Amino acid sequence: MKVAVFPGSFDPITNGHTDIIFRALPLFDEIVIAIGNNHEKKYFFSIEKRKQWIENIFAAEKKITVKAYEGLTVRFCTEINASFILRGLRSCVDFEYEKSISQMNSALVPGIETIFLVSKPYLSALSSTIIRDIIRNGGDVSPFLPPQMHADF
Ligand code: ADP
Repeated sequence: MKVAVFPGSFDPITNGHTDIIFRALPLFDEIVIAIGNNHEKKYFFSIEKRKQWIENIFAAEKKITVKAYEGLTVRFCTEINASFILRGLRSCVDFEYEKSISQMNSALVPGIETIFLVSKPYLSALSSTIIRDIIRNGGDVSPFLPPQMHADF
């Protein structure tokens, strides 16, 4: 069984995240979307809301499960027997950061491989940070979010 964890804050999930997930589906038997929940970090949306949106978006997709987790991503992978971590790359800034995390993760748990998918050009400017800024300032974020979220925006 090829199980991949797609870890992130998903605060909120965007079309950038869902594109990576849909493109990764043929590569794995199961993808666990793992929502990081760190008590010391302040999130814009609650863990319940972030989870509910993701569950709605992927309700029909049998290969996908959604879980919240705390602590080290590699520890979570070990607990659920996942050997792969999935991440998206938008830019060289993402690359430099992701390279270090990936190298440290495989130093912590040898055998865990991080698989990177490069974002589509039209999604590479999209981030949850920018979405939160637009929401705070009253802009329309619906073009950047999956249709299942539109009722909330
Ligand atoms: P984190 O807080 O761990 O960076 P995010 O929710 O911001 O979590 O991102 C989770 C993953 O999704 C990361 O690998 C990130 O690079 C990727 N990602 C986010 N937005 C996009 C996008 N527009 N295109 C491709 N990948 C993306």
